[in-house]
Amino acid sequence: MSYDYDLFVIGAGSGGIATARRAAEYGAKVAIAESGRLGGTCVNRGCVPKKLMVYASHFPAQFEESRGYGWSVTPGGFDWPTLMGAVNGEVDRLNGIYQTMLDKSKVEIFRHYAQFIDAHTLAVGDQKITAERILIAVGGQPVKPSTIPGIEHTITSDEIFHLPEQPKRIVILGGGYIGCEFACILHGLGSDVTQIIRADHILRGFDQDIRTQIQNSMVEHGIKILTQTKPVEIQAGEQGLMVKVEGPEGEETVFADVVGLAATGRKPNLENLGLENTGVEVQNGAIAVNEFSQTAEPHIYAVGDCTDRINLTPVAIQEGRCLADSVFGGQSKLMSYEYVASAVFTTPEAATVGMTEAEAFAQYGEAVKVYRSQFRPMYYVLPGKTEKTLMKLIVNTETDKVLGAHMVGDDAAEIIQGVAIALKTGATKADFDATVGIHPSAAEEFVTMR
Ligand code: NDP
Repeated sequence: MSYDYDLFVIGAGSGGIATARRAAEYGAKVAIAESGRLGGTCVNRGCVPKKLMVYASHFPAQFEESRGYGWSVTPGGFDWPTLMGAVNGEVDRLNGIYQTMLDKSKVEIFRHYAQFIDAHTLAVGDQKITAERILIAVGGQPVKPSTIPGIEHTITSDEIFHLPEQPKRIVILGGGYIGCEFACILHGLGSDVTQIIRADHILRGFDQDIRTQIQNSMVEHGIKILTQTKPVEIQAGEQGLMVKVEGPEGEETVFADVVGLAATGRKPNLENLGLENTGVEVQNGAIAVNEFSQTAEPHIYAVGDCTDRINLTPVAIQEGRCLADSVFGGQSKLMSYEYVASAVFTTPEAATVGMTEAEAFAQYGEAVKVYRSQFRPMYYVLPGKTEKTLMKLIVNTETDKVLGAHMVGDDAAEIIQGVAIALKTGATKADFDATVGIHPSAAEEFVTMR
């Protein structure tokens, strides 16, 4: 049987675009469907605009710090519409680049939603299209807890990039990546931020020292974090939002402007895909795939957040490229989920690769040694600030292999990216010790820990 395309990709986010382009490079006839903007969550309402806002949020502290270096800087007013205009302008520019890249790769773009009619046929706009292989790369969307009365008064990270005004007071629900990053961004830009978390510490799943260090710094900087607290009800009044919460001290009410941010997790975008017309299986709300990103229908694949494996842009890209290399490039490539580094762009920034201390002890028992260093980076000495950097290495004492590296402090993401290569190639503590440091730098601490 002949098909219209060798590969049809549903969703032009990071994973979908990477796979489409790689498959087309191998000579496959490829099309991609996207009803929204090209680039998906990362480019349009995630990593990219968020990181630009992180940069913007650092200036007030830097103006202050510059005085220690002899500058007399009087910060002028901050203009939210100017920042948001610039951020969204950059997003527009990137959308254009994606369009050009797809055009150059000869990937045909359908600006429509695609739905399965059967396992090889899709309804795309008012056309019926067949494909030999289909990739589902539809990403995810924020979820708000529907059990909280008044939750409809909150926004999610999708809308925050389009607020016409900066919130003066904001309540953020959730202590995950998104909640913490926006707490720091908005605080840095001058908003009064209260973050409500159910646990003792933010960032569940991260190394405990990292969680404690970031949380303590955020609180020292002036963010109010209500721990062991759950939101009970949200009411909208003339003076803004009243968020009723229940914590260790009983019930209290926290006030916000018109805006509360629900950063309470994300879920795969599977509604209306027509998956019921295929044999594709869904488990825990995500598309079930094997190690080759293949669904229960062997010619239908899925990558990225819709499979809920590790929900990070570079992971989706790598999953897609492995798939294209294997299916269209004649190679057998499996995605490796070992030593995937990640960063949280809080202030201070955190980055991590490999096992946490708790995971290492659970797996290797007493054969684990933890190296830990906390220090004030040179940059903060002249401004007289007490900001501390934390670095941690987790080592298996039997093999000397470094199992995990964690850092909280300036440029953590930039530094841990390099350390991740070392861990990926099986570096031992002796290899770290034999590496000559770059002086003076914070990063050199990773090769001098005793
Ligand atoms: P997370 O799953 O990381 O965090 C959700 C938070 O919401 C948790 O603190 C959770 O609390 C809390 N929560 C969940 N339900 C409720 C509720 N009913 N009431 C109160 N609190 C609740 O989700 P995010 O939305 O922050 O991020 C989604 C994903 O996006 C991440 O997993 C990550 O993969 C990706 N991401 C990555 C970034 C990066 O790489 N820098 C940046 C942003 C997003 P509890 O812990 O108690 O369950």
